[in-house]
Amino acid sequence: MRGIVFDGKALALIDDLEGPDPGPGEVEVAIQASGVCHSDLSVVNGTIAFPTPVVLGHEGAGIVARVGPAVANLAVGDHVALVTLGQCGACPACDAGRPTLCRETFGKRPTPFRVRGKPHHNFANLSTFAERIVVKANQAIRIPKSVPFASAALIGCGVLTGTGAVFHRAKVQPGDSVVVIGAGGIGLNVVQAARIAGAHPILVLDTNRDKEALARRMGATDFVDPRAEGDAVAAVKARTGGWGANHVFECVGAKRLMEDAIKMADWGGNVVLIGVAPPETKVEFEPLGLLLDVSIMGCRYGTSQPQRDVTRICELYLAGRLELDALVSKRYPLADFERLVEDMEAGKIARGVLEMPGAA
Ligand SMILES: [Zn+2]
Ligand SMILES: [Zn+2]
Repeated sequence: MRGIVFDGKALALIDDLEGPDPGPGEVEVAIQASGVCHSDLSVVNGTIAFPTPVVLGHEGAGIVARVGPAVANLAVGDHVALVTLGQCGACPACDAGRPTLCRETFGKRPTPFRVRGKPHHNFANLSTFAERIVVKANQAIRIPKSVPFASAALIGCGVLTGTGAVFHRAKVQPGDSVVVIGAGGIGLNVVQAARIAGAHPILVLDTNRDKEALARRMGATDFVDPRAEGDAVAAVKARTGGWGANHVFECVGAKRLMEDAIKMADWGGNVVLIGVAPPETKVEFEPLGLLLDVSIMGCRYGTSQPQRDVTRICELYLAGRLELDALVSKRYPLADFERLVEDMEAGKIARGVLEMPGAA
């Protein structure tokens, strides 16, 4: 089959990639669409250290092609959106309905691929840059056939993460004020979830004015260019009655922005740090400022419960309440992956999706 391999130096499309057969509790999915995320490029440019050769890609959707033994909930032909967790289902965290805290959710599928006999690594329990992958059955969530694959491909990364941060981690309430720093793949989903939760106002901070239209379409009530305003913290306080916001979501992973985010929270407010910072990053803040019941939170994968949340995301999408199509900037055939990466690095697209139709 075809797949994109990163050998430590460059990405290359090959056609002699081989994968395993589905074992007990596993299914093989014929990938129809895969998003390309900054985390994939971070491996390529060295920001994320990862063993090579590796098949990248961690957001995708496809069709169940083969079902291994002891799988009761999926059948060949089902359309599925993929999630990275693959929780064990049998530990205290899983028992408590907290799959994102399951200790079995990292690196459980070391080298499933072969190219002329040579082992190739998996990425994020998925590797959606291959035409067919084997996953645990609980990583493939059945979706309605009316949800397009390119749109469904984004659910398992930015959509689940961004909406879950609002619904499950911060638990935003109607009328709460929300600040979103960074209107990228995660930030836009924080914005639309805040809108669905009934937040007001929803302030979006981003230095790229090209993002304003989409941010407003997602639910932003104000778009603030911090460079134009000079002082981002003052700009937020001026728009939230002088005290700051109930919830501040940092979706970039930059030291300065995380420090600003902490200063933007009102008494009793939440600061949710979602952006992935480089490993050595240290953040400074004055603890005195947190005494007024301010919380700083981390958030893994939207604190999600994938079966429930992916299903709800599809229901909201089909009801016209949640946007997925607009998050896809452009679609590319698998063979054009180099053009997609170029467009992404040039800032021309927010989210490109690779399509590999008919691979089933
Ligand atoms: Zn991602
Ligand atoms: Zn578990």
